[in-house]
Amino acid sequence: MKLFNKVHGSIVSAASMIGQNHVPYLPQEQVWELRDKRLRGLVRYASKTVPYYRDLFRTQDIDPADFRTAEYLDRLPLLDKDTVRRNPELFLSESGHGQTAVPFVTGGTTGSPLTVFHDRRSLLRNTGFNRREKDVIRNLLGGKASWRTAAIGYQGATGDTVRRFLRQNRFGPTRSGRLRFRLSDPVESIIDALNDNRPDVISAHGSYLEALFRMVAVRGIHLHLPKVVSYRSDTMTDAGKRLIEEDFGVPVISRYNAVEDFKIGFTCEQRSGFHLHEDLTYVKIIDGDGRRVGPGETGEVVISNLVNRGTVLLNYRLGDIAALSGERCPCGRSFVMLCDLEGRVEDIVYLPDGEFMHPRLVWKVFKHRPGVLRYQLIQHALDTFELRLATLDRATFERVSGEVIVELRALLGPSAVIEAVHQAEFQPYAAGKFRPVLSLLKERGSFT
Ligand SMILES: [Zn+2]
Repeated sequence: MKLFNKVHGSIVSAASMIGQNHVPYLPQEQVWELRDKRLRGLVRYASKTVPYYRDLFRTQDIDPADFRTAEYLDRLPLLDKDTVRRNPELFLSESGHGQTAVPFVTGGTTGSPLTVFHDRRSLLRNTGFNRREKDVIRNLLGGKASWRTAAIGYQGATGDTVRRFLRQNRFGPTRSGRLRFRLSDPVESIIDALNDNRPDVISAHGSYLEALFRMVAVRGIHLHLPKVVSYRSDTMTDAGKRLIEEDFGVPVISRYNAVEDFKIGFTCEQRSGFHLHEDLTYVKIIDGDGRRVGPGETGEVVISNLVNRGTVLLNYRLGDIAALSGERCPCGRSFVMLCDLEGRVEDIVYLPDGEFMHPRLVWKVFKHRPGVLRYQLIQHALDTFELRLATLDRATFERVSGEVIVELRALLGPSAVIEAVHQAEFQPYAAGKFRPVLSLLKERGSFT
């Protein structure tokens, strides 16, 4: 059975790669045809097998056959994270795809863990869609067929789960050229390893790469410069991007994705915004009243994942702020561009010993504590922290706060003073505003 799974998985994965490098260059009408075909299939599927949509269509008297183009999605209500977090089973398909789907946990902008299931076939097919993004790296490396990537992340990240799934469910390719480091590894040891292994590409969270290059610049440390820097998951400031591109001369590219949707967009060789995977995810931008806004207008990003048949999310408020661009990109790809993305923002925490800590390590402490509805760690001074916890009830707070402080002290150092504060109120925050890890230090990243 295992062998059959692997053979089947390899076939699905290989088939999904065919033609993928051409899709971004197809005429826009053809891309939209692909998109609308996926949408029609997904809406039919959701109306039959996903409890939330089955009930919605019935009570609102919506006919799934009416959804001929993506604009019809405006007929559905907007969906927010909190609704899905509280009722995950309503959005999970009752079909075989849904019931065998793989769970992924997100922290995201709200600091509240949320479980999203991705169906097995979509995970295999994503390997094909990856080609679109890898082509950008290949072009920046002058057409190289293979390259060495150093990836810095945390253990148990989304990518780890995906890779484990692919190892179990298809044959090769073995990625021996990939170096892996942990966010928790001391920065000096990562720099030493990068200098020894001389990767072509360094990939990590945007905020981490920014802190790393700032440290290298300020301290005058020798770092082997890669040919491409690639970030994902969170944002990099414009100043950080300029530092790496102009002072170090390394092009910075990015992928826009989320645990709720693995294929939203990617920057091309021009690096002036994100090309949206228009046939895989439908993106619209809305204003404060939930109305769609036009190109050039900034608003909240709303996605419909047209690929995943595990947790089905249509018209889902992702919590990021951005604008659609009305301009065509000179690279020749027809995929619409997303610009001015203010993505997930968390602060790097600088520590008394001169090291820095990435905020995703804090998230790991809370990831598997469902009783914690939301956390916020505020750094008031180098070694003084306030931990705000919204929990299911007071008893949960009493139970977890002591354990959590022990785990946080292991990250922040033995001298860290951490005061836990219970927050009874669970107030939603406006998109793009809330920082699960917030540093109030004025001098960040001076490394002196
Ligand atoms: Zn482009």
